[in-house]
Amino acid sequence: MTDCIFCKIAEGEIPSKKIYEDEEMAAFHDVSPQAPVHFLVIPKKHIKNIMEVHDDHSSLLGRLLVKAAELSKELGCEEKGARFVVNCKEHGGQTVDHLHIHALAGRPLEWPPG
Ligand code: AMP
Repeated sequence: MTDCIFCKIAEGEIPSKKIYEDEEMAAFHDVSPQAPVHFLVIPKKHIKNIMEVHDDHSSLLGRLLVKAAELSKELGCEEKGARFVVNCKEHGGQTVDHLHIHALAGRPLEWPPG
């Protein structure tokens, strides 16, 4: 999608601090980190949000989650843990309309969220 910032990051058209990339996904540090570790994992294919997915996306979604967990461990979060979040639409707090998994770690995180 031409005006999507995460599509542009996936294509390398705008810079990001990438930590992983393959043919179907990219992971990069959040530009406005809310914890010492805060990165995003996105599919390169433009999917607006988690409510737009269907059965054909099951394997991709699984691989995105597996990669988020793997990268969090590589970044030193295995012992203390992390939070993996998918915001969706207005009430879910989604600000970028391209499906992404947040991984947050490196400090205790409150629950429930505000
Ligand atoms: P959400 O509010 O769940 O849609 O999350 C979008 C996230 O994308 C926010 O945490 C932003 O800080 C982050 N973000 C927006 N633009 C960029 C960018 N150019 N590079 C990295 N992260 C970004």
